[in-house]
Amino acid sequence: MDPFDSNSTERANLPRNMIENSMFEEEPDVVDLAKDSAAFPTFPALDPDEVAYEPRSSRLLVRGLGENDMDEDEEDCESSARLLGMSFMNRSSAHRSNSSPYTRQAPPRSCSRPSARTMVVCVLFLVIVASMTMVLYFLPGCTFTKTGCRKENKTTPIEPPFPWSQFRLPHSIRPLSYDLTLNPDLDNMNFTGSTVIKMVVLHNTKRIVLHSANLNISKATFKLDDGEASDVTVLEYKPRQQIALNFSEELKAGQYCVLTLDYSANLSHTYDGFYNSSYTDKDGNKRVLAATQFEPLSARKAFPCFDEPAFKATFLIKINRKPDYMTLSNMPKAKTTPLNNGLVQDEFEMTSVNMSTYLVAFIVGNFTPVSKNVSEILVSVYSVPEKKEHTDYALDAASKLLDFYNDFFEINFPLKKLDLIAIPDFLAGAMENWGLITFRETSLLVGKQSSPLEKQVVASVIAHELAHQWFGNLVTMSWWNDLWLNEGFATYMQYMSLQTVLPQLDIGNLFLAVRFRALDKDALNSSHAVSTAVNSPEQVEEMFDSVSYEKGASILLMLNASLSGDQQFRKGIIQYLKQFSGLNTDTNDLWNSLTQIEVSTQHQNVSEMMSSWTSQKGFPLVTVSRKGDQVTLTQEHFLLTSDNATHTSSLWNIPVTYVSDNCSLAPECRQLFTLKTKSGTFKVPESVKWLKLNYRNTGFYIVHYGDDGWAALRDALANDVSVLTHEDRASLIHNIFALSRLGRVSFRHVLNLLNYISNETETSPVTEALLQLNKIYQLLDKRQEYSLVARMKTYILHHFGSLMDKQTWEEQESVSKQELRSALLETACGLDDENCTQQAKALFKQYVDSNATSRIPGDLQQVVFNVAAQSAEDWPTLLNLYGHATYDAEKRKMLRGLASTQDARKIVWILKAGLKGNLIQTQELPLVISTVCKGFAGYLFAWDFIQENWDRLIEKFPVGSFAIQTIINSATSQFSTQAHLDQVQGFFSSLKERGSQMRSVQEALETIRLNKRWMEKNLRTLQKWL
Ligand SMILES: [Zn+2]
Repeated sequence: MDPFDSNSTERANLPRNMIENSMFEEEPDVVDLAKDSAAFPTFPALDPDEVAYEPRSSRLLVRGLGENDMDEDEEDCESSARLLGMSFMNRSSAHRSNSSPYTRQAPPRSCSRPSARTMVVCVLFLVIVASMTMVLYFLPGCTFTKTGCRKENKTTPIEPPFPWSQFRLPHSIRPLSYDLTLNPDLDNMNFTGSTVIKMVVLHNTKRIVLHSANLNISKATFKLDDGEASDVTVLEYKPRQQIALNFSEELKAGQYCVLTLDYSANLSHTYDGFYNSSYTDKDGNKRVLAATQFEPLSARKAFPCFDEPAFKATFLIKINRKPDYMTLSNMPKAKTTPLNNGLVQDEFEMTSVNMSTYLVAFIVGNFTPVSKNVSEILVSVYSVPEKKEHTDYALDAASKLLDFYNDFFEINFPLKKLDLIAIPDFLAGAMENWGLITFRETSLLVGKQSSPLEKQVVASVIAHELAHQWFGNLVTMSWWNDLWLNEGFATYMQYMSLQTVLPQLDIGNLFLAVRFRALDKDALNSSHAVSTAVNSPEQVEEMFDSVSYEKGASILLMLNASLSGDQQFRKGIIQYLKQFSGLNTDTNDLWNSLTQIEVSTQHQNVSEMMSSWTSQKGFPLVTVSRKGDQVTLTQEHFLLTSDNATHTSSLWNIPVTYVSDNCSLAPECRQLFTLKTKSGTFKVPESVKWLKLNYRNTGFYIVHYGDDGWAALRDALANDVSVLTHEDRASLIHNIFALSRLGRVSFRHVLNLLNYISNETETSPVTEALLQLNKIYQLLDKRQEYSLVARMKTYILHHFGSLMDKQTWEEQESVSKQELRSALLETACGLDDENCTQQAKALFKQYVDSNATSRIPGDLQQVVFNVAAQSAEDWPTLLNLYGHATYDAEKRKMLRGLASTQDARKIVWILKAGLKGNLIQTQELPLVISTVCKGFAGYLFAWDFIQENWDRLIEKFPVGSFAIQTIINSATSQFSTQAHLDQVQGFFSSLKERGSQMRSVQEALETIRLNKRWMEKNLRTLQKWL
C-alpha cells in the first residue's frame, strides 16, 4: 500500500468511529500553508514560499488582488499592476472564483467595472499596495526572503488568517442535520438560500471549517449549546472552496452548536451544482427548470456544507416556488404552504436516514409522473409532460429491479418513495441521488416502438442506479479513493441483476465487451490502482473512469466465480451491507466481510487475494508452457509501454481457471488453480491436446499459450468452433490482439487465429474481432497507408462477407442478434460495401417518404443514418429530422449520423453547433467529437477545434471529468506519428493547471507512442499478409 493510502484509510475510517472511541488525528495548531501546499502540488494557487514567508498583513492585500482568476474586465487592473512592477501570481486558477481567494465573505470587488473612475481607483489602490509592500520590505529585519519576517508589523491592521490549510476538512466538528430553505428564481436564474447546520464538537477546537463555492454569504449566526445566537464573521478560502469560523475560545468536545448561513448565488450554467436548464416543448415554447447534480464536489455550490462523503447527516429541505412549478427532492413532500409573496413553500420530510451531501437532490420545473406501488414503496417515473408515454418501460423495469434488490440484499429500500426523473439537459448518464434518481432522457425514456437494444440501455442504467441505493447510499465509501466500492459494485450488480430479472436483454455480451475494454485501459502505464490516493478536485473527477467502474465490476465477477457455491458471495455482501448500514467503509471492510463468510474447503482468504487486485495497478499476463503432463504457469505485469524498459515486480493472487479438450463447455469442466507466486505448476493427463485458461473470461488477466498452445487452439477451432464457449472464443481473439500490441506475438499469428472466423456466427467473438480489426483499419486510414487500407477492407469483407450478407433488414427480436447485425452492417456500410449501402439508402428513403412514420428497426437506425449523412442531399434532410425528432434515443443516432459526414464544412459546423448548445445540446458535444474523430475527414478538424476551444470546453466539462476524458481520448487515440505526438505533448503541456496534469493526457501520449511502435513493427507484416 502506498503511504498516503494508509494515512487516508485511517482518516477515512474516523467518522463512523468518531463518538465511540475518539480516535482522531492531531489537528495541527499552527497552519503551515507552505507545507500543505507542497503536499498538494496540483493546486496552482499556493506558492509555498510566498505564502509562508509573507508578513501576514501584506499577504491578504497581495492575495486579495492578484491570485484569483480575473475576467476580461479586470485585466486592465492587472496590466496596471504589471506596470507598477508588481509580481502577480498565476491568474488562471483551476477554480474560477470571481474575487479574492482568501477573504471575508462578500467583500467589495476592487476592480470589477472598468469605468474610467474605477481605473483610477484601481491604479491608486495598486500604488498604495506597492508602497506598502515596499515599506514592509525595507522594514528593519523584515524581508521577503526565505528567512521570513516573523515580527508582526504593529502599524498595519491584522486580518485573521484562514485557519485551515488542507484539502480535506478537519474532523473536530461533525454535522448532524441540515435545514435548507431555497428560493430559486427561474426568471432571473438565481437563488437565495438559508442553511441551518446543527453540529456536535467531537474534540476541542477553535475553528469550524466547511465547504462553500460561489455562494455570497450575507449573514452568519452561531449559537453554542443553549446560548444566544450571535453574528459571526465567515472567512473564505476560494481555491479550496472552504469557509471557516474562528473562535477566541475553544469549543469543547461534546458541545452542540448551530450555524445559520444566509446566502445568494446564480443558478449554475454548467451541469453541476444547482443548475438551470431549458428545453423547447412541443408547442415551441421555451421551458426552464432547475435541477441538481452534486456528485462529486458540487453540493457546496448549492448550500454551505461539509461536502465529503463521510460527513453524513439528515436533511430537511424546503423550496419556495411559483404555483405553476412543481418540486421534487429526496424525500416525499410533507406539506405545501402559501407564502405572502405569491409563492408557495414545499416542505419535504426530513430524511429518515443519514446521507452524504453528494446524494442530496432537488428539482424545480414541470414534470409529469407515472407511478406504481412496489412493496409499499411508491415508485414514480417523471418526464416533461409531452414524453409521459415514454415512461412505462422504465417504471416496469424499475419495479422489477427494486423487488429483486430488496430480496437479494435482504434489506428493504429504506425510503417511502423512489422517483426516477428524465432531465432534458443532463451530462452524466444518471445520478443515484437517494430517492430521486436523475437521468438523461436517453437513459430513461423508451418509445413505444423502441428496439430491445434501446431497452437494454435503459434497463442497465436503472439497474446500476438502483444498486447504488444500497452500494453508495446506504453504505458509502469514506473517501473518493475507494470510489470503486460505489461504482464497481453498481456496475457489477447492473449486469448480475439483469441476467436474472430481464434475461431477454442478453446483457452477458455487453458485460464481456466491457471487461475487454477495461483490460485494454488497465494495460497502460498511466492506469492506476482500483483504490488510489486522491488529493485534489481533478483527481476526484478522474476517479470516475473505467478502472473504478469496469475493472471494479470485473474483479467482483472474478471473486464471485472463484468462491465455492453460488451463495457465498451474496452472503458476504449481505453481511457487509448489514454491518455497515448507514456508515462509511473502505475496501478492507468489504474484503473482511467476505472473508468472514467464506467457508469453502479451500479456505480462500478473500482479503489476501483481493487486495492484490485493488492495491496495485494493472493485471497479470499468465504464460502457459507445457511439457508432457506438466503445465507451468508464469505471471508478470501485462504492461504496455513504449520503451519496454519498465518492469514491475507486481504479483497477483490469481484464481486461474482452465478447461481442456476433455471437457470444455459446461461449468463442471472448469478447474481452478490459484497462482500466487511468480510461477506454479499443475498436472493434466498427457492425452490432453489443448488447454483454454480463464474459462468464459471471468478472470481479469490475459493468457499467452506459447506457439504450440496457440497452434493447438487454432486447429481445434478450425475443426469445430463449438469446442469452446462463445465467451472463450471472444477471449482468445481479445487476448491475441492484446499480445500483438504488447509485442509478444507477431500479427501473422493474429491473422492465423482469425482464419476460423468465417465459420463464426456468435455475437461476442464476431464483434470483438470487428472492433479490433476496425481499430487497425482506422490507424492505417489516418496514416494514409492507402494500399493497406484497401487490402484491410478486402480482408474484412472477405472474412465477414458471408455473415454480412446473411443479415436481414427487417425487425429482429433477439438482442444478441441485433448486436451482431448492427456491428456487421455498420462495418460493411462503413467500408462502402455496395450491398449494404443500397439497402440502407432504400430504408432511409422509405422513412423520409413516409414522413418519418415508417419504421427503421432500432438496431439498424444507426447504420441507415450514417449512410444517409454521406449524401449531400440527405444530410440536410437528416438535420431537419433531427430538429423535429422527439424520441431521444433515435435523435441521438441521427446526431451520430450527422457527425459522421465526411464533408469538411459540415464537420466544422457541427462541432461549433455542439459547443454553442442551441440546436445541439452541449451535453452531446463529447459524442459529436468522438464521432467526428472516427472519420478521416474530421479527425484533424476535431483536434484543432479542441485546442482552440479548450477553455470553453473545461468551463462546460470539469478538468478530469469523464466527458473531458472522452474528448481527449477520441481526439488523440488514432495518432501514430512522431509529429502528432509532439503536437499533442506541446498542446497539453502548455495548458499547465488547465489540464496538463490529467491522467487522460498521460494515457493519450502513451497510446500514441504505442500506436507508433505497433505500426513501425507491423506495417511490413501487414503488407505481406493482408
Ligand atoms: Zn454509478
